[in-house]
Amino acid sequence: MVDTQPVEPTPASANERIAFLVDVDNTLVDNDSAKEEIDRKMRLVLGDVETERFWEVYETVRSETGRVAVPQALVEYLRDLPPGTDPAAALDQHMALADALIGVPYANYVYPGAIDSLARLRKVGRVAILTEGDPAFQATKVARAHLADAVEGYVFVCPDKSAYLREVAAIFPADRMVLVEDKARNIDLAREIFTDLGVPFSGIFVRQGKYAAATAPDWHGAELTVESIGELAGMTPEAIVAALRSSIAPNEA
Ligand SMILES: [Mg+2]
Repeated sequence: MVDTQPVEPTPASANERIAFLVDVDNTLVDNDSAKEEIDRKMRLVLGDVETERFWEVYETVRSETGRVAVPQALVEYLRDLPPGTDPAAALDQHMALADALIGVPYANYVYPGAIDSLARLRKVGRVAILTEGDPAFQATKVARAHLADAVEGYVFVCPDKSAYLREVAAIFPADRMVLVEDKARNIDLAREIFTDLGVPFSGIFVRQGKYAAATAPDWHGAELTVESIGELAGMTPEAIVAALRSSIAPNEA
């Protein structure tokens, strides 16, 4: 006999499919400390004056492009070597400098508990890395940090996150999108974009690194704020879901 009783629909929230988009620099990787190692190695190769010049070029490229673009900074730095630089010495310097930039053992700079936290998030939903930067350099950095395996290889590198969230949501869809970030502004931008798309959104603000420290006190806030990425590993999946569905907690910075 066929049961004609209408089936009570399951509330969407009970089976909500959640996707986490996790940032890399200053969220999973202690980029400030990695940069200090680069600076130390560079001073041995170039000396203080030329090292300062490299960082000036790097900051100029960053302000002109709005993002960190290491290979572009290197190209522009090498274009303006001091007059009279011996070509053989310049080549040696170039190779040592490139190695200082890309040869950093990024796996040593993954924050404590970060891999466990990614595993915990995978108990709640699907997890991808979403990171900004030069496509070649940033992808290599993520690989050298051994992060891809922790997210089943779902690594999205784009020059500008906010310009690519629609594409990311299309290829990595969910009932609720979650951005895990140290930059408060990116959480605000993502909230606007996903709200426009009609996709529920939650932010996890990771209060680590220089950008988090510089967060304006009047930003919109996040559903969940942690002081370190490793804290997520100490939360149960149920507690994470409950936090994501809560209303925005104002930033206490
Ligand atoms: Mg970041």
